[in-house]
Amino acid sequence: MLRRWYQLMVDNADDLATLVTWENGKPLADAKGEVMYAASFFEWFSEEAPRIYGDTIPSSVPGNRIITLREPVGVCGLITPWNFPAAMITRKIGPALAAGCTVVAKSPGETPFTANALAELAHRAGIPKGVVNIVTADKNVAEVGEILTTHPDIRKVSFTGSTNVGKLLMKQASSTVKKVSWELGGNAPFIVFDDTKDIDAAVAGAIASKFRSSGQTCVCANRIYVQKNIYDEFVAKFTEKVKGFKLGPGFEDGITHGPVIHSRAIDKVEQHVRDAESKGARVTVGGKRATELGDNFYHPTVLAYMTKDMQLASEETFGPVAGLFPFETEEEVIKLANKAEVGLAGYFFSSDVKRCFRVAEALEVGMVGINTGLISDVASPFGGVKQSGFGREGSKYGIEEFIVTKSVTFGGI
Ligand code: NAD
Repeated sequence: MLRRWYQLMVDNADDLATLVTWENGKPLADAKGEVMYAASFFEWFSEEAPRIYGDTIPSSVPGNRIITLREPVGVCGLITPWNFPAAMITRKIGPALAAGCTVVAKSPGETPFTANALAELAHRAGIPKGVVNIVTADKNVAEVGEILTTHPDIRKVSFTGSTNVGKLLMKQASSTVKKVSWELGGNAPFIVFDDTKDIDAAVAGAIASKFRSSGQTCVCANRIYVQKNIYDEFVAKFTEKVKGFKLGPGFEDGITHGPVIHSRAIDKVEQHVRDAESKGARVTVGGKRATELGDNFYHPTVLAYMTKDMQLASEETFGPVAGLFPFETEEEVIKLANKAEVGLAGYFFSSDVKRCFRVAEALEVGMVGINTGLISDVASPFGGVKQSGFGREGSKYGIEEFIVTKSVTFGGI
């Protein structure tokens, strides 16, 4: 059934992408990319389901034999954000169903329609009623959230969203000691060392990481650290690329970047830009709202000569603003990178293989990209450390979040 659901998503990818663009605003080509990525979780976990193996374990007690049963955790409450209206949901439902669980998914208030369309396709795939349940909520979200995190029939909560809401929900879920996994906010460092042989590739990687979905992904580069020797060249090349972007509504031809989700998001972007400027950063492109396009548009912005006292250095911007920080040594940049309270993704460009191992091990994050700005892949474990949360999605680890291991001891053999 999961495999059929996957195929239905592929067959209806254009319609689903239209919905994603309509309610989220991202360019249609990006929305199509999201839908295919979202569908891949159903395909992957339909193939992972037959591999939920248990163990046979030699016992220390003579005459005893031990085996393990791997059972579905039970009904799962799922809460996801609007930045990937399809993929955030399938990344949870895929493994939950593959493990044998049923789900109650609260769709994001900003983007509820994609979730409803996915549920319709689940129905067409033959998934029985009551297995996949979608709950919408808007102003009453706290009330719905409280039920999902405290109801005794719900055994597991999987949440993706901001660290602040995550903390609140974690407290609530503790009242009935639920199994939980939390995918929270990030503030990814993106480091470019001067041993990098291909600066153009590093620029392209940083652009892809920073400006995907107009900077509204949890793994977006937020702090771009560039070593002093190559700093000016990097800033110039990076700025040129951003000047080539075409900002506008996601349905228009040739649009490379869409709006941000709502006016609160624009306010935060504006605040980070003004704060940096007032402390000495230089805007090399953008730096203002694009009111001619609508309330939620902000010109993709590059800030050069950033310093660690600026707000953007310690807070996730979640918008189309790239802050470029100069640094001198590897030791210094690792300290700066790890200063964040969160630790989701981290990236770096280097052509020195020893440094690649050293830095990958030193970064306090759940995911590292080396010489690439794009790391999302159904096959790769996705998740964070520190205040970015715990638990992994995708990959062979993703299904573990929805399974409990029961040991069975046979005596007198
Ligand atoms: P948010 O925390 O405000 O909302 C996330 C979800 O929680 C939404 O569905 C929202 O309706 C719901 N919610 C809000 N208050 C709630 C409550 N009291 N009870 C129950 N549900 C509640 O986050 P956002 O601003 O919409 O999303 C962006 C954040 O999500 C960023 O911080 C981003 O980094 C993070 N994010 C993390 C990942 C990841 O995998 N780690 C992926 C995408 C986004």
